Amino acid sequence: MFCYLLAHTLEPDSLVAAAARLCYSTAAASDLLERESEHLSASLLRKLQRSGHHSPFEHASFTFGVDGLSRVASHQLVRHRLASFSQQSQRYVKMNDPQVVVPPSIHSNPQARALFQRGAEAASALYQELLTLGIPAEDARFILPHGWETRLVFTMNARELHHFFRLRLCRRAQWEIRELARLMLSECRRLAPVTFELAGPSCVGGQCGESPSCEKPYRNMEDVLRKNDE
Ligand SMILES: Cc1cc2nc3c(=O)[nH]c(=O)nc-3n(C[C@H](O)[C@H](O)[C@H](O)COP(=O)(O)OP(=O)(O)OC[C@H]3O[C@@H](n4cnc5c(N)ncnc54)[C@H](O)[C@@H]3O)c2cc1C
Repeated sequence: MFCYLLAHTLEPDSLVAAAARLCYSTAAASDLLERESEHLSASLLRKLQRSGHHSPFEHASFTFGVDGLSRVASHQLVRHRLASFSQQSQRYVKMNDPQVVVPPSIHSNPQARALFQRGAEAASALYQELLTLGIPAEDARFILPHGWETRLVFTMNARELHHFFRLRLCRRAQWEIRELARLMLSECRRLAPVTFELAGPSCVGGQCGESPSCEKPYRNMEDVLRKNDE
């Protein structure tokens, strides 16, 4: 899977801080943005997060591109309603070569991997045969497996991203969407380190919100951002 940031709000930390300051100031928004200093923004953003004054975070938005995500994971991704999505169409784009995400549990088991490969190739061959019979791509695609790769462009604001990271970086979330969330959070922290300082599953803050708990709380953000942390 490849996930990359395509576009984002300029200086997200400063913009969120200026929007919050506007609530308590007589100054104009443009003046507030100019006056934001890194140090003051950071302490204000921490206060907003702690107090639950989360609406200023909605002004900072982030647009990601992702390739090679399975339709299993994309189905979970698009359940997040406070985001905007554009997904490659299987009605208009013909699926040529077998392009299936192989889960690590299958990849690491040679017998399972061979079975999986056989299934994917058979599905792909049947799909091509259906097209040859004149079946439209929108119907032929019904034979393709859940693991078939897709690509999307999607946009979330920082408030929704916090929510997304809380749910999808939890060890109880499915491995592929967790990996996507990990890549996204790394990008977000690079651009807006203060806004995303406290982002992640609830256990990073010291309290698990899940029932039942996985009993393996993350110790810190480095733990959360590490690939293959199991
Ligand atoms: C570990 C895990 C297991 C899951 N298992 C299942 C499953 O078995 N079956 C299944 O169907 N789904 C499952 N889901 C998906 C889950 O139910 C949510 O649909 C998904 O996580 C999106 O979350 P959300 O609705 O909070 O987020 P978003 O859609 O991103 O919304 C963000 C927040 O906005 C508010 N909001 C948005 N829309 C509304 C609305 N219409 N009314 C009121 N408030 C709203 C809510 O506060 C919501 O939390 C699972 C999710 C996780 C993380």
